[in-house]
Amino acid sequence: MVPTITLNDGVRIPQFGFGVFQIDPGQATVDAVKQAFDAGYRHIDTAQMYGNEEGVGQAIAESGLSRDEIFVTTKLNNNRHGRDEAQKALEESLTKLGLDHVDLYLIHWPLPKRDDYVETWRGLEQAKAAGKVRSIGVSNFQIPHLDRLAAETDTVPSVNQTELHPTFTQPQLRQYHRDNAIATEAWSPIGQGGELLKAATVTALAEKYGKSPAQVVLRWHIQLGNIVFPKSVTPSRIAENIDIFDFELADDDVATISGLDKGDPGARLGPDPDEFN
Ligand code: NAD
Repeated sequence: MVPTITLNDGVRIPQFGFGVFQIDPGQATVDAVKQAFDAGYRHIDTAQMYGNEEGVGQAIAESGLSRDEIFVTTKLNNNRHGRDEAQKALEESLTKLGLDHVDLYLIHWPLPKRDDYVETWRGLEQAKAAGKVRSIGVSNFQIPHLDRLAAETDTVPSVNQTELHPTFTQPQLRQYHRDNAIATEAWSPIGQGGELLKAATVTALAEKYGKSPAQVVLRWHIQLGNIVFPKSVTPSRIAENIDIFDFELADDDVATISGLDKGDPGARLGPDPDEFN
């Protein structure tokens, strides 16, 4: 049921997946990822920073699914920037995941004040050339950071994973992505399950479509073309979140949800990438 999106390097990514940020390492991660596989998820979004790559790897090994049925993303930790260091860190992630390659590898944060993301990107280019990763991208990059990669390196990131939900829709960044063939990945897609899901606009549409508020918001992302991977450890919610491929929002309802945007920077739930160091 889950559509795929073809990235600018030809790699196909499932548009919907499972995020594992803040899931306890060990058995909690193994259990949650297995629940997700059982519910039909085939795309897992983890990171070195989350500390749970081993649990993801264990769930993959025990799933009985073949490697090419699963799409795995991990991300370079902030303390591992640098051309050589990025490649060493990826090796460590692969060992923890029990894989010989990941499908997508991201620079987790640009850390612009350290001024080393261009050099780090060259490390990702080398990792791709070595077959350790099928596709390389970035996370939390702002337009000037993407411009610098374009000016100084040979590879356009396949994705930029960025905070994005109906109260923070990032219109300029999404337009930049469209203009430059970068796919948009939306983190905290349901606003971390907070006020957004109680907003009258969202609950009214949930009633109209006979779906939950989370399903309406996730469907909004899918129709905008965003790649999403909501997180949950609750089996019923894991199943609920992927059950969004049997209905379609009308165009004016998509626009109504987009109208919840509060603009930058006030509506961010997470750090400002220009400041985060
Ligand atoms: P999210 O928007 O996916 O919200 C998850 C929370 O919403 C859950 O903890 C739960 O409390 C609640 N929830 C889940 N399903 C629900 C449902 N059906 N109904 C009501 N509440 C529900 O937030 P997130 O975990 O921050 O983001 C998703 C993923 O994005 C992460 O797991 C991670 O993979 C990625 N991420 C990346 C970055 C980055 O810097 N690149 C930052 C944050 C998150």
